[in-house]
Amino acid sequence: MTLNAKTALVTGSTSGIGLGIACKLAEAGADVMLNGFGDVDAAIERVSAYGTRVLHHPADVSDVDQIADLVSRTERDLGSVDVLVNNAGIQHVAPIESFPVERWDTIIAINLSSAFHTMRLALPGMRERNWGRIINIASVHGLVASAQKAAYVAAKHGLVGLTKTVALETATTGITCNALCPGWVLTPLVQQQIDSKAQAHGDPSQATRELLMEKQPSLDFVTPEQLGELAVFLCSDAARQVRGVAWNVDGGWLAQ
Ligand code: NAD
Repeated sequence: MTLNAKTALVTGSTSGIGLGIACKLAEAGADVMLNGFGDVDAAIERVSAYGTRVLHHPADVSDVDQIADLVSRTERDLGSVDVLVNNAGIQHVAPIESFPVERWDTIIAINLSSAFHTMRLALPGMRERNWGRIINIASVHGLVASAQKAAYVAAKHGLVGLTKTVALETATTGITCNALCPGWVLTPLVQQQIDSKAQAHGDPSQATRELLMEKQPSLDFVTPEQLGELAVFLCSDAARQVRGVAWNVDGGWLAQ
């Protein structure tokens, strides 16, 4: 298996995309440090099914000290951080004039600054071993904008820029840094949007779901497992010269 004897740290991996990616990395042989909140036991059980070592740390990635603890505990308890997936993310939908200031700060901290911190803390170990794979989960909103998502769009554009910068700073090493930019993936984060749109417009949830799908020519959701398989590919030897790419996985959204 590609990732035997490797260790992966996946932020925000107790649900949705992060959990799907953690499963695929474990299936490929990696030991995994999970992070995030909610149904932690169910997440541990799902990822453990692949027979590798699985731990969980509930660090809040909006807090620098907790991020430092997350990285150092992964290195201490699993041996290293060979694969780093910056996936934790939240969003808020509101026009800029009424966008809550504290939500701006929190969204930037979780979706963007956390990746700066995990990368600066995990890179020294990767450099020592001259091997590392960093995968930042951005979004189509890292490449194009949508109205009413100021903080999310700014954070995801920032994450794409940060990905390219780190790719350049590691270009002569065995470390790569890339971003995945998903379109709609049906996770709790998107279900929340469907429910609140449906409530606001008095639409049944199915109609709202169809409206979302208009953006995505495939008329189908991307799945966490598909993103996990692409993450495993980015970890493979075949992908060692894939550097600084923001790879849209969006059912054709950005081809329009
Ligand atoms: P989700 O809500 O299902 O999962 C988010 C995860 O992050 C959970 O494990 C949660 O516990 C964790 N988390 C939230 N705040 C945290 C914090 N402060 N510290 C640590 N962990 C925290 O969301 P998702 O849809 O799976 O999204 C995952 C990532 O994918 C996000 O960065 C999101 O922006 C991105 N994304 C999602 C979609 C989509 O359609 N779902 C599309 C493009 C990009």
